[in-house]
Parts: sequence; C-alpha cells; structure tokens
Amino acid sequence: MQLAGVETRILESAILQIIPQSVLRISTLKNPKSNIRIPKFPISLPTNYTFMSRKDLYESPDYYLADELLSDEHKLIRASVRDWVKKEVSPIIEDYAQRAEFPKHLIKGLGEIGAFGPTIPVEYGGAGLDYMAYGIIMQEIERGDSGIRSTASVQGSLVMYPIYAYGSEEQKHKYLPKLATGELMGCFGLTEPDHGSDPGGMTTNFKDKGDHYLLNGAKMWISNSPFAGIAIVWAKDESGKIRGLIVERGMEGFTTPETHNKWSLRASATGELVFDNVKVPKENLLPNVAGLKGPLGCLNQARYGIAWGALGAAMDCYDTALRYSKERRQFGKPIGGFQLQQKKLAEMITEITKGQLLVWRLGTLKNENRATPAQISMSKRNSVITALNIAREARQILGGMGITGEYPIMRHMMNLESVITYEGTHDIHLLITGLDITGEEAFK
Ligand SMILES: Cc1cc2nc3c(=O)[nH]c(=O)nc-3n(C[C@H](O)[C@H](O)[C@H](O)COP(=O)(O)OP(=O)(O)OC[C@H]3O[C@@H](n4cnc5c(N)ncnc54)[C@H](O)[C@@H]3O)c2cc1C
Repeated sequence: MQLAGVETRILESAILQIIPQSVLRISTLKNPKSNIRIPKFPISLPTNYTFMSRKDLYESPDYYLADELLSDEHKLIRASVRDWVKKEVSPIIEDYAQRAEFPKHLIKGLGEIGAFGPTIPVEYGGAGLDYMAYGIIMQEIERGDSGIRSTASVQGSLVMYPIYAYGSEEQKHKYLPKLATGELMGCFGLTEPDHGSDPGGMTTNFKDKGDHYLLNGAKMWISNSPFAGIAIVWAKDESGKIRGLIVERGMEGFTTPETHNKWSLRASATGELVFDNVKVPKENLLPNVAGLKGPLGCLNQARYGIAWGALGAAMDCYDTALRYSKERRQFGKPIGGFQLQQKKLAEMITEITKGQLLVWRLGTLKNENRATPAQISMSKRNSVITALNIAREARQILGGMGITGEYPIMRHMMNLESVITYEGTHDIHLLITGLDITGEEAFK
C-alpha cells in the first residue's frame, strides 16, 4: 500500500488513537516510501523489460474481500508492518541472502514494529495484541523473507512465550522486556543430531549438583543460535523428564557453532548449541512445565505464525508473477493472455484465497482459546505447501528472469524448503491430522 503524506499523517494519528505508541512502536510509519533496488550486476534485458523489480510494488491479493473480516486496528498494523518491510527489508534482503548473512541491523526495527512477542502483555514489554494481529505481522514479514520471519517467530513464540507461560515472575521481568525490544536475542534448542521429528528421544540432559545443574549434550539446526544471548534449552533431568533451562551466552562450556552452506533461509543464521559440562544456575530452570508438552506448547504458537507467514510468501510470488505476466510480451501479446499462464495464475489465487480464509478462521479460534494443535497443524501444512507450489509455478511464469535475484521468487522457493521441514515436517503434520480424525497413531 502506497500512502501520500497526508494519508500517512491520518493513518498515524488514527493508529495512535487505537494503540498507545509504547505498545506498538510505530516510528516506521513516518517514511512510507519504498526504496529502489538497483541491480548489482549488468544483465542483458528484453527490450520491453520495465525494471519493475527495482521497486517493491507489492499489493496483497484479496479476491474474496477478506479484508472486511479484519478490524481497522488489524489493517493499520498491517499497513505499518508492510511499509516497514518495503522500506527496510525489500531493498537489502536479496544481497544478504546471496551473501548468506543475517541482516542484524533489522533487529531494532523488528522490535519497534512489535514483531517480538506481539501477544505478550504490555507489562512485560510485549505489544499486548491479539492473535489475528500476530498472524498479520508474521504474514507481512514473511512476504519480505521467511528468514526474517523465522527470527521474529523464534524470538516471540519460542523464547518469549515459554518464559511468559512457564517462567517465574522473576524470569519474566528479567528477560521479557529486553527480548521485546531486541536488546537481547534468544534461540530455542529442541532438535538434536539424532532426534528431529521425534524430540522425545532427546539425550541432552542435566544433573542436580546441589547449588547448580550440570548440562551436557548438543542441539542442531538452531535458528539465531550464532548470535543469540540466551537459549531456551529442552533437556532431560535425572528422572528422564523434559525440562526447560535458560542458558546464557558466556556460561563456560557453552558454544554455538554456525551451520554453513545452506541453500535455504540464507538470510537467517542457523547453528548448533553444544553443552560441555555447563553449570546452569538453578534459578534458570523454567519452573512451571515438565514433559514434552513444554516445547510442543511453544511450537503451537510458532506454527500458528507460520500458517499466516507462509501465505505472505505465496502472495508475494503471485503478485510478482501476475505483474510480470501483464508486462512481458511474447508472440505479440502479454504472456498473461495465454491460457497456460492464466491457468497457473488462476490456480494460485484460488489456493491463496482458500488459505486466507483458513488462517482467518484459525485466528478467531485462537483468540477464543479454542484452536486445537491439530487445527494449527492443518493450517501450517496447507499454507506452506500452497506457498511452495505457488513459488514453483510463479518462477516458471517469469521464465529465465525467475531464476535471478532481481525477483524474490527463487529466494522464497528456497526458503520454503526449510519452512516445510521445520516446526514439524509436512509428513508429521499430516500424521497429526490423521491421528486427530481416526484416533489411531501412525507415528510409530
Ligand atoms: C533452517 C532450519 C532451522 C531450524 N530451526 C530450528 C530451531 O530453531 N530449533 C529447533 O529445535 N529446531 C530447528 N530446526 C529443526 C527442525 O525442526 C527439524 O529439521 C525437523 O523437526 C525435522 O527433523 P529432522 O531434520 O531431523 O528430520 P527427520 O525427523 O529425520 O525426518 C526425515 C524425514 O522422515 C520423515 N519422518 C520422520 N518421522 C516419520 C514418521 N513417524 N512417519 C513418516 N515419516 C517420518 C520426515 O517427515 C522427513 O521427511 C530447524 C531446521 C531447519 C532446516
């Protein structure tokens, strides 16, 4: 959405009336103009190529007028996050992805737009928003890049949420306000080299040594681990029960080697967590949860955000392909005039529309605290496969241009290969639905 100066001021004053600035830090509304992306390498272009990719012209599709299902507050939040993504993410993300580097300078802005712990109450530094707002924020950020959304998801759903839901009052006050602004970043350690889809088999463990716990083991595929200041680590106690520990960077024996050579989520930092006789103070144990339901409760929060987020990536691919199909001419007419390309585009908008209605309904159920984990699984699975299929089709519509970094499609496609695997694989979510409808477990 492009806004003129006056419209911006109206929007700004309207949003201030609805949400106190301390809650949603909206300083980014002040400059709604998108930056222009300049290609980094000379390429030979078709004569009628219009350099549409230099500017982020994104407009979200709304075929079934689903916007009418959103409140004015939700639409204002979406406008402010979209403007931030256009200004801060779109102009730089391709370069960072090509260099396989996380754009750390975005952390402050993510905190300012309320992307870290949107649903955490204001008294702990969160934005105190509802789940619909949380979904919308994730959708807008992932429209920019799944890696940036991953950073926000991990911080909000996998680090702040467990501290908020399972932590002591002291832990909440100590960590949450700093995590909300991004002054402190966190990561979430569940997956191990030998236990991915089956986290209950984990071997990372800790022993009670009287005045501290002694932690040993290793986690892998951990988003944000290379730069995080704290890690929420799931480990077994001496009785084999899974507990959550807050492990801080600098504790002796704790290291976070980075994972290199990824073809996916290249603008997100991924690494390991290695614990070699790490002494963890007893006050760093999350006191209010034990068992697998601890980490699964966090994953539920994050999967909900992914259900919205992946649709953002799908919409960006669709928007790019539709725009291109109207401009690119072959055989004397726009390629959007050929039936084969129309089939692709028509199927894309159909799937996006179905996904939009599904996540909207999920959002209302989540706000009423009625969304089941199985419903969240269904939505996460549906949105991600929808996005991946749309990315693949959209890339073809762009022909050769589709493989370049001038357009976001190939980056989205590669990112989505991680999104379809993490937070429960495509297969595992299908098995969750299967179990839910038949009552028969097919995991083992
Ligand atoms: C970029 C990235 C970031 C990540 N970030 C984090 C993070 O921050 N924190 C964290 O803890 N983890 C993280 N993960 C790990 C992620 O959650 C796991 O990769 C995921 O759970 C799958 O585990 P796995 O890779 O070991 O695959 P496996 O579990 O080995 O699965 C391999 C294949 O077998 C299938 N399979 C497994 N079990 C069954 C079954 N019972 N029936 C049928 N098929 C089955 C799977 O569907 C999959 O296709 C991340 C992963 C990636 C790629």
